[in-house]
Amino acid sequence: MDAEASPSTITSHLRSALGAARHALAATSRLVLDIALPTLCVSCREPVNGEGVCALCWAKLSFIAPPFCPRLGIPFVYDPGPELLSMEAIANPPAYQRARAAVRYDDVARTLVHALKYQDRTDLAPAVGRWMARAGKEFGEADMLVPVPLHWRRGWSRRYNQSGALARVISRQSGVRVAAESLRRVRATEQQIGLSRAQRASNVQGAFKVVADRMADIQGRRVILVDDVLTTGATVDACARALLRAKAAQVDVLTFARVVDSHKAPI
Ligand SMILES: [Zn+2]
Repeated sequence: MDAEASPSTITSHLRSALGAARHALAATSRLVLDIALPTLCVSCREPVNGEGVCALCWAKLSFIAPPFCPRLGIPFVYDPGPELLSMEAIANPPAYQRARAAVRYDDVARTLVHALKYQDRTDLAPAVGRWMARAGKEFGEADMLVPVPLHWRRGWSRRYNQSGALARVISRQSGVRVAAESLRRVRATEQQIGLSRAQRASNVQGAFKVVADRMADIQGRRVILVDDVLTTGATVDACARALLRAKAAQVDVLTFARVVDSHKAPI
């Protein structure tokens, strides 16, 4: 007797067909639900049209505008005059040339960054990336955008690299290409949260490397490093060092938010 035609096989075929149909139905109803439910503002949970932040919450973000340190992008309370650097830039000059951020890292910015990073709210990336592209206009000409890489283990658990997603939006806005695979995190690092400035620096020291077969692509290029938040700058500084070792002509840093230590601001 042909095995294909045995009653038990027919039953099992029927069962799997029914299962598939049920699966398809469930997917359809999920789709309907997705369409029916409006997106909620990631910050205040009010319904929004399209992108993930409502107009009111956008308005609450503290956008960084001049005057600021031409090197680190730290906002000044008053204008000290053109080209005057912050005390921090003079005391601890970074490996990168300039850093710019769209907003101060406050409560609303933190909510946005966390949603993007840990809650898979990829719908936020276009708006966030557009503001970053605006903040980075000052850099002028650049050859490539390099997102700060995650270690593969973290990338796996978080499913996607938020810096990569932001770099792709900035690329669409600016026409500067993304070189996502050039820089690698060659060893896992502890989370930077809760570490002191010195601990942060040693935690990421030597953690990044330019991939051997991308060295030629980096050499002589003006690179913009892309990340979500700049805290002490230890991570982007380590990345900039790796890119400069690969003979990048210049490295600038573009983040969505930056921590602004109000205690250190001149009075
Ligand atoms: Zn809102």
